[in-house]
Parts: sequence; C-alpha cells; structure tokens
Amino acid sequence: MNFLEQAELDQAFMGEALRQALRAYEQGEVPVGAVVVREGRIIARAFNQVELLKDATAHAEMLALTMAESAVGDWRLTDCTLYVTKEPCPMCAGALVHCRLSRVVFGASDSKGGAAGGAMNVLQFPTLNHRCEITAGVRREECAGMLKTFFAERRSGEAPPKPGRRPEFPDEDDPLSGEGAGRLS
Ligand SMILES: [Zn+2]
Repeated sequence: MNFLEQAELDQAFMGEALRQALRAYEQGEVPVGAVVVREGRIIARAFNQVELLKDATAHAEMLALTMAESAVGDWRLTDCTLYVTKEPCPMCAGALVHCRLSRVVFGASDSKGGAAGGAMNVLQFPTLNHRCEITAGVRREECAGMLKTFFAERRSGEAPPKPGRRPEFPDEDDPLSGEGAGRLS
C-alpha cells in the first residue's frame, strides 16, 4: 500500500470515529469517538460514555479496546490500528501500550493532557515494552471543531445538547464567530 492510499484510508476511518464522536455529542458527553481497524476492517467502534456510565474510565478508546479484544479473542492487538478524534490521555495511552496496538491515529492534539506527544509521549516511552506508531492531525479541524463547540456551549451555560442536534464543525481559525455554538439552539 502506498502512502496516498494509506492517507485516504486514514481519512475514511477517522470519518467513522467522527460519527462516533457525534453520538457522544448528541448525548451530552465530551465528543470523542474511536474505532479499531484490523486487516482493513473496523472491528470495534465506541464513543465517550463517562456521564452515561458514571465511570471516569469510560473513554472512547478504553471501550473500543475492550470491544476489539472480544472481537479478536485476545488481549494482544498487535495487528490493529486505533483511530480516535482526540489525542489519547495518559490512561488510554497506557492501555494502548498494554494491548500492543501497532499504530494510533488521532485528530485533535491536546497540549495539556495528550499522551501521544502533546503533553507527554506514553505511546513511545523508551523503557516500556511496546511502542505505537503515531499519526497525528488526521481530519484535525473537524475533530477539534466538535470539541470546541461542545465546550463553548458548556461555558455559555446552555443545556446539554439534545438528541438530533448537530455541531456546526466550525472553522478552526475562528470557531465561534457567526457559525459557532450560538446558532445550535
Ligand atoms: Zn482517555
């Protein structure tokens, strides 16, 4: 597979992660979605469910990893790639290393809490027994835009989004003017 074909596949699989993130958004959860791909096929898809499950560990990546382990019938996900809309946190990055994912692809970076090179790099920590290849910034504007819209709404005191409402995927440079969160209600 050449580089261009891989880039196109990355865009497509991130599209499914974005659809998962939208489901989280529609349920008032921080909009993060993830899918696990093996041999060109999606074997797990999940979105953040921290509020629904009242479980701080119910990040999209953790749920997707558990599903993928079931699908494969093994905790080793050595031949799998995880796509996630936001850079994994330290907990999820730790889980990704434990499951030995070969590759992690993410959209929006997180300079404060990201553990794939944003704030720290757990995925490629030299003394751990496994390192994941990292591809950053796939469909970054869409991934970051959904998060920005969600947090802008939360700050402005709007009620949690109701099912069926859709974020505007605002332009990254100017996310909240005109086309921003204010128009969603
Ligand atoms: Zn996480």
